[in-house]
Amino acid sequence: MQTNFDETTGRKKFFDNVNKELNKLIDPATGKVHAELLEHVNCPVCDANSYDQLFVKQGFDFVRCKNCNLVYVTPRLLESATLAYYGDAPDQESMVDWLHVLANPVNQAWQVPYFQEAVDIIAKLIPANGKILDIGCSIGLFMEIAQKSGFECVGLEPEPKSREYALERGLDVRPDLFKDAGFAPGSFDAITMFGVLEHLSKPKEMLADIWDVLKPGGIVMVIVPNVYSFANGTLHEQARTFTGRNHLSYFAWDTLSDLFKRSGYEVAHLDTALAGLDAVLNHWQFNNPHAGLSLDLLPPKMRTLLENPEGRAQFEKLIREWDMGLRLRLAARKPK
Ligand SMILES: [Zn+2]
Repeated sequence: MQTNFDETTGRKKFFDNVNKELNKLIDPATGKVHAELLEHVNCPVCDANSYDQLFVKQGFDFVRCKNCNLVYVTPRLLESATLAYYGDAPDQESMVDWLHVLANPVNQAWQVPYFQEAVDIIAKLIPANGKILDIGCSIGLFMEIAQKSGFECVGLEPEPKSREYALERGLDVRPDLFKDAGFAPGSFDAITMFGVLEHLSKPKEMLADIWDVLKPGGIVMVIVPNVYSFANGTLHEQARTFTGRNHLSYFAWDTLSDLFKRSGYEVAHLDTALAGLDAVLNHWQFNNPHAGLSLDLLPPKMRTLLENPEGRAQFEKLIREWDMGLRLRLAARKPK
């Protein structure tokens, strides 16, 4: 059976437009992003300036810190260029396309269990009816699910189109960046950042900034791409995770824990989510990883296993159990 998640959810259109936007940044003379748009940065976790180059993609250099092993982008786009993308930048067609991806029912079908699992993790760590701040809440799907489970939620979303969508659904979503939101100390039992940390130029500073607003004993939960996921390890630069404009840091089990410990938090939960299997299976057959899934050229036993939903579920379970899921989920506690 041919299924094409990318076409159905509008992901294909989104990534096509992103690629067009990224091509505009490239200097044809060097094949790299125009030098005047870039700044060199030290490692965002440990501040070292010593790294191995891993690969170049779309004009950006992806490197790994020799001191702490964080994978990151340097040089990277100047912060002014990055902020324009998340703020009100009408020339950025891809943001509008991404909203269509987020609001698409097929997309929400996988996101609902994904966020429900996150709510279940938080529910084990904070009091029932606790208050949650969701930074970068997008269209507010996590907030909706958390509220159904009895939590009180406030969201922050500077991107206007996603925020409008969330407001229409009756959610308390504010336009501010965290540092401008003016929350009183000890306001929240949990602060969540799903798909946020990897975008930030200074993730360590963000963890320091939210410290006061969190109650003593409160929880920060993040979900970020898992740099050594089964999909990334197989696809390397062909994996969609690697986008030098948007994703600046690429965490693994150790580097993510390290970031939180350096900021004074105690890791309370760490695992991986989603298998990302389709792209890998396509790639194994030397097909375009992001095309519709085809199993036709796989070895027969493997094909039979994967055509059976139970067989496939078994494979996906194994990927997650081996910490090779597409996303890392970490919850860390501010000590009492
Ligand atoms: Zn480092």
